[in-house]
Amino acid sequence: MNRKIDILDDLTINKIAAGEVVEAPYSVVKELVENAIDAGASTITLEIKDGGKKYIRITDNGAGIKEEYVEKAFMRHSTSKITNIDDLNNINSLGFRGEALASIAAVSQAEMITRPDEQQYGILIEITGGKTEIIRKVGCPVGTTIIIKNLFFNTPARLKFMKSNNAETMKITEIIIRLSLSNPGIAFKYINNNNIMFTTPGNNILSQAILSVFDKDTFKNLISLEQNELNMKLHGYIGQPSFVRGNRNLQIIYVNGRYVKNKLISKAIEEAYKEKIIINKHPVCILNLNIDPSLIDVNVHPAKTEVKFEAEEQIYDFIYKSIISALQQNTTIPNLIAVK
Ligand code: ADP
Ligand code: MG
Repeated sequence: MNRKIDILDDLTINKIAAGEVVEAPYSVVKELVENAIDAGASTITLEIKDGGKKYIRITDNGAGIKEEYVEKAFMRHSTSKITNIDDLNNINSLGFRGEALASIAAVSQAEMITRPDEQQYGILIEITGGKTEIIRKVGCPVGTTIIIKNLFFNTPARLKFMKSNNAETMKITEIIIRLSLSNPGIAFKYINNNNIMFTTPGNNILSQAILSVFDKDTFKNLISLEQNELNMKLHGYIGQPSFVRGNRNLQIIYVNGRYVKNKLISKAIEEAYKEKIIINKHPVCILNLNIDPSLIDVNVHPAKTEVKFEAEEQIYDFIYKSIISALQQNTTIPNLIAVK
């Protein structure tokens, strides 16, 4: 065999990589809102239209990107969050792979306006299918606005697999709720087809953020939980054993502020409820686990929603015991907040 071997060009590489990072509109929302959070924003607005297929806009008042780095930010493996492999042992940001902007821009029509505080003007950049079409100075407030139009317009296979507007909107709503609740210090606004779905106060009070995104019924059925162990802290809210769901969608778990899906944690939670709930039903929780970042590995999957723990048994026991104890104490959220 004498076939020619070539290295793929960047555009093709980005389009292929986009397959891993950008599954559907909700993944765009996740990556871009995480960027806004990493940029230290105190207000973040998400606007979507038609399930995010045609239009997603995210505006933040964070650090912005300096003129000289704007184009670079859209290149693959470009990040300001880590500089070498050792930094991976101590991740404090949500991003670090430097893939999101490059991947998203490769499969959409992207537009960004960004300005850091120290710069008197902003930069507008328009990228279509990974190619920069326009880059110029504009007047704008400090922070970043990014608009993603016509996702997957140049990848017909992916385009076909997008679900109905309603189904895609539901996934986006789930993501923005998780991100809002893991950052009660940030004021979020979520707009869908010109309707305001929710706004959170951004005053760092988790129960008020919960009240802003869920109905009163959910809110009234929550028990507060706060437990500390040597090098770990678990805090948040868990549902009354009588308040169960048919699925695990309302089991929201964060590890160091990052939403994760983790079998070990889910198992510990469900075991703690085992004797108290109806078979085949699932408890509800919004829990943050804080742990020394060097004891976990978040670089397991490109979407970064998986996490590996060094001391699995200790984590399991800690969570199990914390829940048992919170269920015994059964401290509900003060009425003061619930009357809003
Ligand atoms: P990562 O988040 O893994 O670093 P991204 O591709 O998501 O990779 O972003 C690349 C870089 O662009 C980031 O490291 C950051 O410096 C910059 N950036 C992206 N979005 C924003 C934003 N909303 N505000 C400020 N800087 C941003
Ligand atoms: Mg990112």
